[in-house]
Amino acid sequence: MKHYTFFFSRNIALFCGFMMSVYSFAATPVTTVAWNGYSGAVSFTFDDGLGSQITNLKPMLDQMDDVHVTLFVTGAYAFNQNKTGFAALAKAGHELGNHSASHPYLTQGANLATEVTGFIQTIKNVDPVVEVTTFVTPYCSSNDNVKNEVNKNHFMLRNCGGQGLFSWGQEPDWMNMDSHYWQGNLATSTGHLNSAAGGKWHVHLSHGVGGDWDIISTNDLKSLIQTARDKKLWMGSYSEVGAYYRAHFTMDKAQSTATSDGFKVTWTSPHSAMPKSVPLRVKIDVSSVGSGAVVEQKGKVISPESDGSYIIEFMALELDVKKSGSQPSSSTSVPESSSSTGITSSASAQSPFSGSPIAIPGTLEMEDYDLGGADEAYFDSDDVNEGAADATTPYRNDGVDVGGNAGENAVVGWTAAGEWLEYTVNVLSTGIFEFTAYVATSQDGSTFHIEIDGTDVSGEVAVPNSGDWNEYTTVKGTTQSISAGSHILRFAIDQPSFNIDKIEFVASGTHKVNQNLNYQTTGMVKYEIFDLKGHLLMQKNSMNQNVNQVWKNMNKSLSNGTYLIRYSENGKKYKTQKVYKTSL
Ligand SMILES: [Zn+2]
Repeated sequence: MKHYTFFFSRNIALFCGFMMSVYSFAATPVTTVAWNGYSGAVSFTFDDGLGSQITNLKPMLDQMDDVHVTLFVTGAYAFNQNKTGFAALAKAGHELGNHSASHPYLTQGANLATEVTGFIQTIKNVDPVVEVTTFVTPYCSSNDNVKNEVNKNHFMLRNCGGQGLFSWGQEPDWMNMDSHYWQGNLATSTGHLNSAAGGKWHVHLSHGVGGDWDIISTNDLKSLIQTARDKKLWMGSYSEVGAYYRAHFTMDKAQSTATSDGFKVTWTSPHSAMPKSVPLRVKIDVSSVGSGAVVEQKGKVISPESDGSYIIEFMALELDVKKSGSQPSSSTSVPESSSSTGITSSASAQSPFSGSPIAIPGTLEMEDYDLGGADEAYFDSDDVNEGAADATTPYRNDGVDVGGNAGENAVVGWTAAGEWLEYTVNVLSTGIFEFTAYVATSQDGSTFHIEIDGTDVSGEVAVPNSGDWNEYTTVKGTTQSISAGSHILRFAIDQPSFNIDKIEFVASGTHKVNQNLNYQTTGMVKYEIFDLKGHLLMQKNSMNQNVNQVWKNMNKSLSNGTYLIRYSENGKKYKTQKVYKTSL
């Protein structure tokens, strides 16, 4: 209790910082990263549902997991004879779009309801994964009646006739979208790809591939794809890029409102026929909430990418930014009572020491326990830092017994039974973890355990007698499964008298190698490769659900060894498995 005044003062300081921020939060704090972080985008579209698209295009696409194209199919030609092939393309992440039931001039007395809306179900019938969200006019022939019919069930209408280039910041007429009609001129299309690399989206239109009509040869198509790859263009399907493009005009204007522990952003979908899932890469201004702010959608924590951006689900239509350590939005939040001086309790003061949650897999430095003070972030049996006497500049300035100077290899010592330290952690993916604690003691019988959100996940861990207080050794253990997201990890001392420097956590291999996913829904899959210490090495978004194929494609630049691949379905469910790169 003798340090009561000290903690009281610090809590006032924290509180004042928070109050100031409430009045300075940005009204539109979310900014979409242009074209998913690529230099630009290109969508290759192929009209008419032709046999050569199955015999010549599909084998080519099957070898490329960085390209998603759109097949605009119509009942007029070979679609009905090739439904199995088109279904396979859809399952591989390519888009099937609507090109009318019988390919008439829609402006010349066609039955619009039958031709436009009536054909949607026929396309969807090829496979349950198919979503039909975009339309192409036969012969690029359109008028207001056509637009109105298309607009009922499609969020974009593609025409043709120009360069097919779109600027990020300028909203187009979604019911009259231009495309470049392939005329056999490789230089012209290559030029359009070069323009796209300056921050634009290019929409390319051709028909047959190495056969049928208005043909693009497989060599010309391969050349364009290689140019797009070299120019670092996003090669997404028409609806994939289009939905991202359309969503950003809504997202970047979305207003935020202050909440008790941060702010909330809500928005509405710009069209009823948007795809079910629209992953958006965004920057979020969290400065009003402070470092270590946590981003959530519908109660699920969204971890930042290595560049600080977040990949959110636009179709969730909301996100929350809150102080780390706050209660999840799903639980009832109880307003804190105010005292007569206007100072709230310190109940929300626990927060990560570095400003950010500690990542698991990763290393827990014991001296980096949370801010928040005694009985909140730690319990120490006395209020004195026994370790400070050994240090000219103590690492921490509260009652925990941390030895060593600031900036040096600080450790926690003078451990007594019943003491505990808490750490706000961010578990990158659900799983079992193997941990290694670095400990020293000249006594026998010391033990500890680890809790996550109040549940013991390690069982009792016996600390070996290393023979000297300064002679560190390791002790290993395994956790129960810990779910992905933000948690409070408690390091609890059961039997006294040992020093502890740090605990390293690595993911335990719990899934079989080469296991493939069986997705229940369509959508972009996010793949991330980590080393065994949890460092993110690379990532990519892909519609390819064959994990083994994606891993083989991604691991080319890695040296031989063991890695972790994490994949998420529509940004919601995470799985992680151990994978191996060998020379074989
Ligand atoms: Zn056509």
